[in-house]
Amino acid sequence: MASEFDLIARYFTRAAPAGLLGVGDDCALFPVPPGEQVATSTDLLLEGRHFFPDVDPKALGHKALAVNLSDLAAMGARPVGCVLGLALPRLDEPWLAAFADGFHALADAHGCPLIGGDTTRSAHDLAISVTVFGAVAPGQALRRDGARPGDDVWVSGELGAADVAYRLLDGQYPADPALLAATRDALEWPQPQVALGLALRGIAHSAIDISDGLLQDLGHILAASRVGASLHYERIPVAAALASMDEAPLRRAVLGGGDVYQLCFTAPASRREAVLAAARSAGARAARIGEIRQQAGLDVQDGQGRTLADLPAGFDHFPAA
Ligand code: ADP
Ligand code: MG
Repeated sequence: MASEFDLIARYFTRAAPAGLLGVGDDCALFPVPPGEQVATSTDLLLEGRHFFPDVDPKALGHKALAVNLSDLAAMGARPVGCVLGLALPRLDEPWLAAFADGFHALADAHGCPLIGGDTTRSAHDLAISVTVFGAVAPGQALRRDGARPGDDVWVSGELGAADVAYRLLDGQYPADPALLAATRDALEWPQPQVALGLALRGIAHSAIDISDGLLQDLGHILAASRVGASLHYERIPVAAALASMDEAPLRRAVLGGGDVYQLCFTAPASRREAVLAAARSAGARAARIGEIRQQAGLDVQDGQGRTLADLPAGFDHFPAA
């Protein structure tokens, strides 16, 4: 029977890069480059709430880190390292091995080594907590409060697929194996836009990653920046797999669907070419979907300039009664 320490040694201990003290001591140590600040963020993932109990453990390991790297991306911070808290209801080594594989593969891809954590037994469900550390120069972080009237609103990638995959897996939509096959990777293997966030430093005025839905997350930028926005629905890039969907659920997926982990950001209209060049350099797509204005509020217009009614709300863990 493997002990806690065997598990940590087997699945979570990797040689730390030079200059870092990784797993094995009371604390991890990592240098902060002179003149830079630490950017840090934590996300908690709970079985039944953030993932289905039978999800592929390798995908889960990937996603647990991806959602945190996405926060660094949205801040324009460069990943430095991460720590992992695990509450495990049972000891299932093949499951742990696959989870660790998915986690380390993404950590390696982004130069964000696992340098510590905590492992305990859970009396109930599985819980996963990841904290990431990044570095960014003072004044360069892409904050939520920097949007200004005259900025364009941009979004990276394509929207909608993760919401549709979630509703198919949750049984909210009738089974459709072809549609699930075409959307599932968007939900289970999100790709954090770290390179894009870094490339947008000095260009974007504000940024957020889309975890709870485009409208809700853009709403956080608007509130923090005390501005409003108009979006043009037909300019929002939609996942090709959704081409045959009905208009109402499609709109809900695009405007309100969470788990996207693309960036929504604003930049002055004078920097359009710079935004497109930054996206190209990061291997990402960026689409200009609207404008920031002085007047508060958020509206979405269709191709004829008519304002859409009944906009979907995003996800809220504690919705008001
Ligand atoms: P402590 O008693 O000081 O909390 P632990 O015995 O819990 O230390 O952990 C031993 C070492 O293993 C520490 O360096 C800790 O950071 C690391 N560790 C524990 N669990 C994990 C995990 N899930 N992932 C990465 N490192 C871990
Ligand atoms: Mg401990």
